[in-house]
Amino acid sequence: MLTLLIATSNNKYTIVNLFKILALTIFTRYITKSSGFVLSSLRRPKPPPFVLLHRNRICFKMSGQIIDGKAISIKILNEIKEEVEILKENNNKIPGLAVILVGSRKDSQTYVRMKKKACNDCGLFSLGFDYPDTVSQNEILENIYDLNRNPEIHGILVQLPLPSHLDESFILNAICKEKDVDGLHPLNTASLCSTSTHFGAEKVDWTNFRSLPFHIACTPQGCIELLDRYEVKIESKRAVVIGRSNLVGLPVAMLLMHRNATVTIVHSKTPNPESVVKEADIVIAAVGKAGIVKADWLKPGCVVIDVGINSVDDPSKKRGYRLVGDVDFENAKEVASLITPVPGGVGPLTIAMLMRNTVDSCRHSLQN
Ligand code: NAP
Repeated sequence: MLTLLIATSNNKYTIVNLFKILALTIFTRYITKSSGFVLSSLRRPKPPPFVLLHRNRICFKMSGQIIDGKAISIKILNEIKEEVEILKENNNKIPGLAVILVGSRKDSQTYVRMKKKACNDCGLFSLGFDYPDTVSQNEILENIYDLNRNPEIHGILVQLPLPSHLDESFILNAICKEKDVDGLHPLNTASLCSTSTHFGAEKVDWTNFRSLPFHIACTPQGCIELLDRYEVKIESKRAVVIGRSNLVGLPVAMLLMHRNATVTIVHSKTPNPESVVKEADIVIAAVGKAGIVKADWLKPGCVVIDVGINSVDDPSKKRGYRLVGDVDFENAKEVASLITPVPGGVGPLTIAMLMRNTVDSCRHSLQN
């Protein structure tokens, strides 16, 4: 965020200076346009700067505010820690998460380590199962059936992707829907895609996901959590989701629709995606292609949530690569009013939502 605090409201000389700067900027732009003379600093497309009144100060906003997913996730994990302590004290219950990892993919191992650490930090109980690449499908299924019956386990997560000899959807469907804290079981997906106003006796309140009697996938839930925590109005807005996977694109589009946004999904067969994205007040990118969303695809002032995680070669880094999102962040932040970085945007929220789903699953098990 590049926000310039110009003056306090009781400093009349600085306010006079502010108007001088504004007049000079307008004059320079006029001269630049009419004479064809281009100053390099004026070349980049910028959103119209707008003035905010904030606690007796005039703030001159020059570019997009960066959404701090890390800070929000720390806050949520602290909230969860408090909830776990209350569950322990009042019900003598500790929420438990089982994490199944197959094979030796470095990225999967890292994600599993982060998930177990988050359990530890929040006071949840975690059980890890690490299988070699050669494990049979039956062995994993037997374990899942045992975990489905285990009263100490409230959530079961199978780290994806699985090796190709395993049937991913068969394995995910074996997890009972109550313990499917990743929200990928077809019954949980079906509930998400329903526009019923009631589930059984319970009225659906889409403003409070925690009240719902089913699990919502963690990353899509994290995207909405970021919008909520930054007080982005969703209702009545135009939202465009780029990507339609079961894991991210489809569920996040459903969540936006349930929050009364008008939603369009863009996918690999959409002609002229840039013209569709240009109409969006809220853009969610979940493609998996580095920098595919350009700054000139965006409507000035829109809010951008970048889910993509892509590694690009970078010899300046010790490991030889760096992670980037689907959005051309450096240029897009000059156009958007709010934008997530990669890393440090949606990623941390995914883990926080997993912890929250596990705690909710534990609470539901106490009620039933
Ligand atoms: P996926 O299953 O590969 O789906 C990608 C989607 O993008 C598909 O729907 C595909 O359309 C669409 N697409 C591909 N090329 C396109 C193009 N040129 N224009 C428009 N749409 C295009 O991927 P995913 O699992 O949804 O993940 C997407 C990204 O999010 C990946 O980078 C992944 O690593 C990241 N991710 C991050 C988190 C996190 O915690 N931050 C969690 C999950 C995933 P078709 O359906 O037409 O093929």
